[in-house]
Amino acid sequence: MTASPATESPLHYLEDAIAQLKRDGLYRTLRVLEGEQLPRARFDGREVINLSSNNYLGLTTHPKLKEAAVQAVRSLGVGPGSVRTIAGTMALHLELERRIAAFKKTEAAVVFQSGFAANAGTVSSLLGKGDLIISDELNHASIIDGARLSRAEIRVFPHRDVTGLARVLDETKDVKRRLVITDGVFSMDGDIAPLPQIAALARSQGAIMMIDDAHASGVLGRAGRGTVDHYDLHGQVDVQVGTLSKAMGVLGGYVCGSKSLIEYLYHRARPFLFSTSHPPAVAAACLAAIDVLEQEPERIERLWSNTKRFKEGLQRLRFDTGSSETPITPIIVGEAELAMRFSDQLFARGVFAQGIGYPTVAKGKARLRTIVTATHSQEDLDRALSILGEVGRELGVIP
Ligand SMILES: *Cc1c(COP(=O)(O)O)cnc(C)c1O
Repeated sequence: MTASPATESPLHYLEDAIAQLKRDGLYRTLRVLEGEQLPRARFDGREVINLSSNNYLGLTTHPKLKEAAVQAVRSLGVGPGSVRTIAGTMALHLELERRIAAFKKTEAAVVFQSGFAANAGTVSSLLGKGDLIISDELNHASIIDGARLSRAEIRVFPHRDVTGLARVLDETKDVKRRLVITDGVFSMDGDIAPLPQIAALARSQGAIMMIDDAHASGVLGRAGRGTVDHYDLHGQVDVQVGTLSKAMGVLGGYVCGSKSLIEYLYHRARPFLFSTSHPPAVAAACLAAIDVLEQEPERIERLWSNTKRFKEGLQRLRFDTGSSETPITPIIVGEAELAMRFSDQLFARGVFAQGIGYPTVAKGKARLRTIVTATHSQEDLDRALSILGEVGRELGVIP
């Protein structure tokens, strides 16, 4: 008996897509973390040296953040009960926004549920039909989605290519409103945007300058203030996005800038208007994270000394670490299938370094993505390097 069209699920094409992922070596099961997000952690029943989290400073388990969250639950409950614009703005939310603005040295800030929501909500509400968004080709997916939602035109410039950006700006002088946008630190390559040149170009052409500092928050600049502080460009970037989900150890995204920018986003950014705000525990833990950044600068120092030690080790082993300048250190191997096999064999020997392939990175640029943290010990890093060397040689990734 043949199945009639009516009995075949309309979602049948998903099975074909999944089969294709398997053929391409891109099919993944989710690794399950059992316990806390630590430099040595248990995933899928195995203790591994964890090179895959964004927990740069070890704040996911910091006692001060935990205590702040617990206290907030005790005194304020577990949920805010509404979106920000109706009944869901708590004093803690406003306190966090004031703290972030002061930390970033801007007039004001608004917090979103995530960095993704911050980017998508901001780009889509600042620009509209007839406007132009000029975006680095390796910018984060949330910027791309925000750009598409805005219905503005999108022009992409080659990665970190200031000349390419200048060309696009020259060709589009007649467009009334233009936004130049770049990641501060690129999430898959760990390189830093040439922000002084990009911001100067945007300014000279009257374009809005926006940066997504998800991977620079808590990592670059004084006390982790980000790329703008790193280059000392305060006042020259109109819109700064950051995340509370990575080095800050909790969850959330924010936008910093002028008071009018933030007031506008309060009225127009759709995730702010139509999605419930953070639980009090999240806001309280984020406030404690800013305290820790200011009070424990040694964490950032250790992050960078660990980064240097680990990078030098990888380079001694002759791995291709691309153009990374930050704790995000790719080990580029080429084919996705090889990256996944490399990752699996490392895991079996006690090192967790996630394999990344298309569409997260370009075809032929598949890689392991590693991030060391401030909380890795020297023994952790040396052991990880020795296992990376062994497996890398076995698979012919290095000589
Ligand atoms: C992770 C990331 C985001 C999203 O941040 P979340 O808080 O995890 O939603 C945005 N931009 C970049 C560049 C990122 O790496």
